[in-house]
Amino acid sequence: MTWTVRSPATKEVIGTLEETNGEQIHEMYASAAQAFASWSGLPISERIRFLRKVRLQIIEELDQIVKVISDSTGKVSVEALTTEVMTVVDSISHIEKRAAAALKTKRVKTPLTFIGKRSYIEYKPRGTVLVISPWNFPFQLSMIPIVEALAAGNAVILKPSEVTPLVGRLIEKLFTQAGFPAGLLQVAHGGKELGAALVKGKPDFIHFTGSVRTGKIIQTEAAKQLIPTLLELGGKDPMIVCADANLERAVQGALWGGFTNSGQVCMSVERVYVDQSVYQEFVDRLVEAAQHLRQGTAADSDIGSMTFPQQTAIIKEHVTEALDKGATLLAGDHPDKWEEDQMFIKPMILTNVNHGMAVMQEETFGPVLPIMAFETEEEAVALANDTRFGLNASIWTADLERGKQIVSRLITGNAVINDVIITVANPYLPYGGAKEGGIGAYHGDVGMQGFCVQTAVMVDKGRRKKEVNWFPYEGKYELFVRLIRSFWGENRNWRGFLAAYRQLLKKEPRK
Ligand code: NAD
Repeated sequence: MTWTVRSPATKEVIGTLEETNGEQIHEMYASAAQAFASWSGLPISERIRFLRKVRLQIIEELDQIVKVISDSTGKVSVEALTTEVMTVVDSISHIEKRAAAALKTKRVKTPLTFIGKRSYIEYKPRGTVLVISPWNFPFQLSMIPIVEALAAGNAVILKPSEVTPLVGRLIEKLFTQAGFPAGLLQVAHGGKELGAALVKGKPDFIHFTGSVRTGKIIQTEAAKQLIPTLLELGGKDPMIVCADANLERAVQGALWGGFTNSGQVCMSVERVYVDQSVYQEFVDRLVEAAQHLRQGTAADSDIGSMTFPQQTAIIKEHVTEALDKGATLLAGDHPDKWEEDQMFIKPMILTNVNHGMAVMQEETFGPVLPIMAFETEEEAVALANDTRFGLNASIWTADLERGKQIVSRLITGNAVINDVIITVANPYLPYGGAKEGGIGAYHGDVGMQGFCVQTAVMVDKGRRKKEVNWFPYEGKYELFVRLIRSFWGENRNWRGFLAAYRQLLKKEPRK
């Protein structure tokens, strides 16, 4: 079936592409397995050479890539360039530098009780990794798992979002142009049915980024076949502004953290809690600053359009419910005034909100900043933790120690002091959520390692006839009690330990 794709911002046709037929899935897995057989045998340096080619291919086609992302999502060019392309090339460059160290076999200590043996961990690719990605950062959230998985020696099948399919095709093209072996990175173009069929096809690992709802479905399906998964899910991320914060910076941070990509960021600021002593000043300054944002498709616009029409319905529902329950809209338009298929949603600031409203509990995923005042740090922490999500949080204070203490009390996978969102862009850090924010983490060394089976290995030279813990057990109980007491008791008794160990060694097998 041929798909006609339109820009969410202009509604113009931006391209067509062929949907992947469900019957091709079996063939895709077979090609992936074939490609995996040779790719996994390549030394890491050789795999990295290929990834470098992709990075240079991206740099070569920077403007065209930005255009495809921007046309597909409605996000402004600067955001497509920085939060998508720049993050990806930095990630590839990081992998080029770190992969050999992250994936090399690691020697670990061996306890004295295993005297004479050596231990190490070997990282081996899993096989075929299925990457399922969403529409809000269609380039970054597909590319980073792909390159991590490939660096680790896997083959990959990508199922990009059906909302932004041209980005999937762009990725497919990039890898072909970079000369990757056939079958190593394949893209399955289609919607949720195709995604579900790919899960049923039994990949060796699933890397999923998307909503909590879909994450639960995929986890359930994967569990039936015991397919390991990594889930990167939603957020309702809090921002805590303390009385001693640099208020101008906090205002600008809230503005960017709440409205970048029209708020369609899993790590965006979705709830703001401000110390009551600076609350009014913060709100006034934020409302004033929001008026200077430029929205549109021009090269210097700050905020673009929404990407997915259905998302505007959720924003409308949350804001309308809040206003019906007594919230005040200080910036933006009342949803009643929105046009039927309006995709440019003016940034909204809400006050007089509370945790009884969906806008403070459910993921809004739109340009909405609801703000509450707090009296004590205790209250701020309790409010921030009062959520089923736990992806990201930010704390704004001049007292960095206090900021760190607050971070320690938050249940969150990511936290930033005096900035927003940025942990995801530091490739040295792991990236993952707590609670319904997700399960597992990628990025950093753990990211590449996560795409591997970790084999724990112990080696014995094999010269001794037997081990002390082997059969027969006759007369060994008391000796082990002595050994345990002398070694792990309050005061270590080396003499007792060695005596018990020697006697254990002397026990001969029954003849
Ligand atoms: P979604 O869950 O609707 O879709 C994500 C992907 O899953 C799409 O490719 C879709 O086709 C596929 N899919 C849907 N149903 C499926 C099924 N039954 N089996 C297999 N695949 C299926 O999410 P979305 O609307 O595209 O993205 C927005 C959501 O993603 C938000 O909740 C956001 O918070 C979350 N997100 C999380 C992160 C993160 O890193 N934690 C990053 C970005 C977005």
